[in-house]
Amino acid sequence: MNCTTIAAISTPHAEGGIAVIRISGEKALKIADKIFRTASGKLPSEMKGYTCAYGHSVKGDEIIDEGVLTVFRGPKSYTGEDIAEISCHGGIYVSRGTLRAAIEAGAIPAEAGEFTKRAFLNGKKSLTEAEAVMDIISADSERELKFARSMQEGAVFRRIRSITDKIVTVLGALAAWSDYPEDDIPEVEPEALKASLEDIKQELLETIRTGDYGRIIKEGVSAVIIGRPNVGKSTLFNLLSGCERSIVTDIAGTTRDVVEERIRLGDVTLRLWDTAGLRETEDVIEKIGVNIAKERLERADLVLAVFDGTEPLSDEDRELLERLPGKRTIAVINKLDRISENDLRESLGCKFERCIGMSAKEGTGLEELHEAIEDMFYKGEVTPEMGILANERQLGCARAAEGLIEEAIEALEMGINLDAVTVLLDDAADNLMSLTGERASEKVVEEVFSRFCVGK
Ligand code: GDP
Repeated sequence: MNCTTIAAISTPHAEGGIAVIRISGEKALKIADKIFRTASGKLPSEMKGYTCAYGHSVKGDEIIDEGVLTVFRGPKSYTGEDIAEISCHGGIYVSRGTLRAAIEAGAIPAEAGEFTKRAFLNGKKSLTEAEAVMDIISADSERELKFARSMQEGAVFRRIRSITDKIVTVLGALAAWSDYPEDDIPEVEPEALKASLEDIKQELLETIRTGDYGRIIKEGVSAVIIGRPNVGKSTLFNLLSGCERSIVTDIAGTTRDVVEERIRLGDVTLRLWDTAGLRETEDVIEKIGVNIAKERLERADLVLAVFDGTEPLSDEDRELLERLPGKRTIAVINKLDRISENDLRESLGCKFERCIGMSAKEGTGLEELHEAIEDMFYKGEVTPEMGILANERQLGCARAAEGLIEEAIEALEMGINLDAVTVLLDDAADNLMSLTGERASEKVVEEVFSRFCVGK
């Protein structure tokens, strides 16, 4: 247990209805005695946990503000320590006055994320649950909030814990065998061992795959618009982003750079990259754009391949089709305002997961596009309760563990002695415990909480 007492303003540093000053630690209630005078005259340190009192924050005899004090008694509090929370008027100057009084009375200013870090260190939360607090704060859609909440409720922790348990069971069998090889303990069967490790590896691979989904939930689907010149890529981009961003002209090759826009289509977030088109060019500036476009294409979740519905497929279209990466792709047949029928859908349809008709100029077909993206990325078997990896740190630990299990399987196949397998499995379990925080290094913990804001 940390013996210092910390204080911070936990609400945004801006004018608002209410500001909350939070004080946590051994001396929290003694400090509250000095800086909060209840109307009833009762001392905060005499109050029970989960009770409030109306009164004034004070500096000596001088009143700073009126407000309400809430007392939490450890371990039944957010941090696990005693907490005094003063809700006062939401002015910047006035709330800082109360904070200053708390600091003069013996509290030290809290660092970024320190309240949640204490909750972690005091065993109130696992590391993934603590990370979820940040995700709840930054969630900007119902879906994102649901996933963050399930992580806070321990879904990721449980998923990883169950894999760690399986590794530990294997380790237990190996330890028993190596410690008492002559006793009655059945010899470790390499085949049975390998089967257990294969199971663990599969579970880890599935868990790693959820990371993609976690990223999409948080950041949105990253999408690239491609197509030969003049099919309407910029027009589509502008329609989606709702403003004139890239230059629209009739001269081929005028979109020279790559512009990123975060847009909402219903409850789908798209991180849309408008690109210069994937074609060979002699123009130096455009070439840079084309190279970036290729790189983006590699990294995108979704490709929107645009075709001009008023023209038959050209050689350039066909070339583009040849070069499409093995990515989820939606074919957008554009300019359908100019014709009543087109047969492009038939010539293209079979090549794509989805094929939709649009007029980027007139703004029709957006609903169909939205549905296609929703179906491709958000429907399916993924549910919040399954435990979805939510960030690069978690993914990194899971990947490292998977790599080690893979090595252990190889070691078994090559008949390397079981001590080497034990070391690899130990390391794998360590990585998973670092993910959940059960055995995280100080550096990892620092890194996680440095991303928090002060007061959380
Ligand atoms: P890009 O080179 O693929 O980016 O194509 P642009 O967006 O610059 O569009 C090329 C031309 O096609 C412009 O004159 C646009 O106004 C026109 N255009 C784009 N979309 C549509 C559409 O849906 N219908 C019609 N009729 N014209 C379009």
